[in-house]
Amino acid sequence: MRDGLDARLPGLGLLYRDLHSHPELSMQEHRTAGIVAAELRGQGWEVTEGVGGTGVVGVLRNGEGPVVALRADMDGLPVREATGLDYASTDTALSPDGEPVPLMHACGHDLHTAALLGATGQLAAHRELWRGTLLAIFQPGEETAAGARAMLADGLLERFPRPDVVLGQHVGPLPLGSVATRPGVVMAAADSLRARLLGRGGHGSAPHATVDPVVMAAATVMRLQGIVAREVSPTESAVVTVGSLRAGTKENIIPDEAELKINIRTFDAAVRERVLAAVRRTVEGEAATSGAPRPPEFSEINSFPLLSPDGQFGRGDGTRPPRARGGRRSGAHPALPAVGQRGLRPARHCGRVSVRLLVLRRHGAQQLGGRRSGGRAAAHRARQPLAVLRTGGGSRAA
Ligand SMILES: [Zn+2]
Repeated sequence: MRDGLDARLPGLGLLYRDLHSHPELSMQEHRTAGIVAAELRGQGWEVTEGVGGTGVVGVLRNGEGPVVALRADMDGLPVREATGLDYASTDTALSPDGEPVPLMHACGHDLHTAALLGATGQLAAHRELWRGTLLAIFQPGEETAAGARAMLADGLLERFPRPDVVLGQHVGPLPLGSVATRPGVVMAAADSLRARLLGRGGHGSAPHATVDPVVMAAATVMRLQGIVAREVSPTESAVVTVGSLRAGTKENIIPDEAELKINIRTFDAAVRERVLAAVRRTVEGEAATSGAPRPPEFSEINSFPLLSPDGQFGRGDGTRPPRARGGRRSGAHPALPAVGQRGLRPARHCGRVSVRLLVLRRHGAQQLGGRRSGGRAAAHRARQPLAVLRTGGGSRAA
């Protein structure tokens, strides 16, 4: 399967740099989707564009056998690039709020797209080495959780061969040229919400006549830090981050309201419920303490379920995973072509990848729901080491 890879890499490197130079916001990936569709067609795939907005689906049929879906995300982020790379992005776009924003592939989705196009090229060129049907899913809107949902709502699992397994990937802080996997929970559930804190504005010279939402917001942000520190057990984990705090326009005017955008990450359904409730209670409590004329208003920005894939790539098939170096059993699939496999310290990822939405739909919500509150079993899974597979491609990284 590696035959021809060396010849393919320079072109993939150029493709990666081009994608990196021209990021697009979630659900606006028109240029990227066009490049993906053209590449896939050139490789001999059946291509459908516009699935769930800017999604692209490729199908490659190669006789009897399982249906395997390979998935990559394509969107960039409203971040100003300061890497100094000669192919750094200088592009801008309008956000959904109509504000001009800088653009950067700051989450590696350019690499995901280029890597999957490399894999689809190799798989199409070596059909004598495999049997079955491949589905290449290029998903828009991973950063907002909108893309996977839009593709599913647009009939991804009905219009195309239904996959027996969905393989997703994300770049991460691992040794160069390595691939890691683990049984059980891989990525946290992520909930983002907006809290509107309602005060009463006035002139900065007369704060006693106002209910200052700036002070209310500042107190709320500090108080929120106590949730993980004081309410989550040391054996459990969660993250509560306030990534945006906005209020006011001028130094001598006390505004009427402030807005917090809060991100919550958890690995367990019960902890998630508790932390979400604590966030709401804390925001409402600080508003009451400030004497707010009206209680705060909450709205959901997005919500990603827990990623807990199973089947052959976890322990769910009942097979004993191969023994990693050092005597620890890893969760790698025996069929993966490991070159120098080793166990890594137990770690789960707090990032988010909406392949979980595809996995969730594939396995059924109940199955995953049952796992979320797995107690001791979940804690055991959480201690399983990551399995790391050396790909041998480190020196070739684009
Ligand atoms: Zn990402």
